[in-house]
Amino acid sequence: ATPTAIMVGIGKGAESNILIKDAESLELGNKVDAVVLDKTGTITEGKPTVTDSKWLIGTANTALLESILLALESQSEHPLADAVVAHLTKSGVAQLELDGFESVTGQGVTGQYQGDTYLIGNRRLLTENGARVPANVDKLVDMWESQAKTVVFFASAHQPVLAVFAIADPVRSSARQAIEQLQQQGATTYMLTGDNVRTAAAVAEQVGIQQVQAGVLPAEKASFIQQLQRQGHTVAMVGDGINDAPALAQADVSMAMGRGADIALDVARMTLISTDLTSVPKALTLARKTVRTIR
Ligand code: ADP
Ligand code: MG
Repeated sequence: ATPTAIMVGIGKGAESNILIKDAESLELGNKVDAVVLDKTGTITEGKPTVTDSKWLIGTANTALLESILLALESQSEHPLADAVVAHLTKSGVAQLELDGFESVTGQGVTGQYQGDTYLIGNRRLLTENGARVPANVDKLVDMWESQAKTVVFFASAHQPVLAVFAIADPVRSSARQAIEQLQQQGATTYMLTGDNVRTAAAVAEQVGIQQVQAGVLPAEKASFIQQLQRQGHTVAMVGDGINDAPALAQADVSMAMGRGADIALDVARMTLISTDLTSVPKALTLARKTVRTIR
């Protein structure tokens, strides 16, 4: 590769809001045949809002529990937590101090209050803490999830669920076009998410993505990419979160969303400054053109 062609490529990238940190990314970008995208904050806007909620206990008890939930989510750095906090704050829920707090990556958060353990997160978190979802609630949850909403569960350990919240996070308006362009370029597109399979499938459907892996923990995101590489694929990963960092590090070409978490931006070798997802196919086209110039 001639340094001149690379310099031109990097310059052209900058003009299109694609920040390229090294020459190798451009050269490998030319060979990419599999593109893996994170769901939340990458395919979706990452601006989740609570659209529906249901308390499953008598209203007399909700005030204290709402405060416990607010305290839990106030300490979480997850975008879904911000949505729950905004929802509770709007209805004037009182502040409270927890006796303990723990973040469970890819699942949610737990905390202690007056001898009881409380949790907010996904089904896996519930199961691991012995909390249960009654069958009638399951139905409601299924319905919300098939509408592409993420459902989070609030419970006390070893008890039936206290409340459920449906959270909507719209897909980026550029997502469908970006996926279409990637497929036209001959790349297979994959969506990886820690979210549940029903929500993931509904989002994939909206944007036309081919393959979906749901319920994936951060380390599993990285091993999924490694698996594709072992099959002989050159893999690009696009992500925004702390939970994407291992996968970004594993990928041949890594792209971070410009407003993503610091660690994602540090690890990724390319930064997409704009929120326009067609930057992804654009970056691969640029790589192709650059390498063609070299040869
Ligand atoms: P993604 O891969 O889609 O970015 P994560 O791995 O960060 O998702 O999270 C996976 C799931 O864990 C979320 O869909 C949600 O159900 C649950 N979760 C994680 N953190 C929280 C939180 N603070 N509050 C509620 N739910 C959470
Ligand atoms: Mg994300």
